[in-house]
Amino acid sequence: MSMAPIRLAVQGIGKIARDQHFPAIAANPAFRLAATVSRQPAGLDGVPHFSDLEALIAQGPAIDAIALCTPPQVRYPLAARAIEAGLRVFLEKPPGATLSEVVALRSLADAAGVTLFASWHSRYAAGVEPARQWLAGRRIEKVSIIWREDVRVWHPGQDWIWQPGGLGVFDPGINALSILTHILPEPVYLKDATLQFPQNRAAPIAADLHLADTLGTPIHMDLDWRQTGPQSWDIIVETDAGRLHLAKGGAVLTLPAGTQENPDIEYPGLYARFADLIRAGLSDVDTAPLCIVADSFLRGNRKTVEPFDD
Ligand code: NAP
Repeated sequence: MSMAPIRLAVQGIGKIARDQHFPAIAANPAFRLAATVSRQPAGLDGVPHFSDLEALIAQGPAIDAIALCTPPQVRYPLAARAIEAGLRVFLEKPPGATLSEVVALRSLADAAGVTLFASWHSRYAAGVEPARQWLAGRRIEKVSIIWREDVRVWHPGQDWIWQPGGLGVFDPGINALSILTHILPEPVYLKDATLQFPQNRAAPIAADLHLADTLGTPIHMDLDWRQTGPQSWDIIVETDAGRLHLAKGGAVLTLPAGTQENPDIEYPGLYARFADLIRAGLSDVDTAPLCIVADSFLRGNRKTVEPFDD
């Protein structure tokens, strides 16, 4: 049975909307890009464009769903308004600037009977599901996460990322936590953390976390935004059956039997999941990665380090 495409709006035409959302939407027949919302005067050729969400709701074409690709600090009021208007909502990661606002959104969505999808793109990286399956039933001895990238390369001029709620180095780091909390069979909690804040910034540039799972397995996370040269997005899990290594943000999986490298399928996977959730009338809002980040700010030691300028 063929179904009418889901008429989708995208708000916030920045790096991620252009690099990933628009191509993934265009490639998925379950969706039709029906509108864009942006503070910029123009959107995409041939797609109705609105200056803000209120204008879309008041004057726009009929819409079934919206993907919010703005920075996290402005996402709550947009999501709450979209839910009120009966739209299904796709939240970019992190789903909010606070944990409590995400919980509040979930309750608004449930009360309105609309789908809310708190997306975690790294969970859809090609190696992640096979890693989760391989780890199920194994004894895990130790986990090490090394997430070291050059902020000047990946986040040039993104002022929001350095402001309160922008998460700093946890903006990429939360991707590692989204994988960790998905592939480990047991719940993970934060033990202690050290966060390094540049003297002139409100968000950390580096962090060192000690976590554990409920079986006591030690988990160490090394996050740094000052990495020049080779970049690392690695998760290494030592088990009773040997070592698992997820590299390149989850795309490349190495097990004792060998390495699997696959094409990038993260955003196609997210949109397939969003369509399934909408068709089934379900929500998917997992706050576990944001919980660990919030706990790091709650519990971590803070060190002031040298100023950072773009
Ligand atoms: P970005 O390039 O700075 O784009 C964000 C867009 O949001 C801006 O272009 C702007 O679009 C809109 N926006 C900014 N401030 C706003 C405000 N006050 N009110 C309304 N709209 C506002 O950032 P990005 O890299 O695309 O990141 C956006 C989100 O996606 C973040 O949560 C980030 O963590 C996530 N993400 C980013 C990446 C990545 O590689 N960059 C990867 C995965 C997920 P308009 O000018 O069109 O209004």
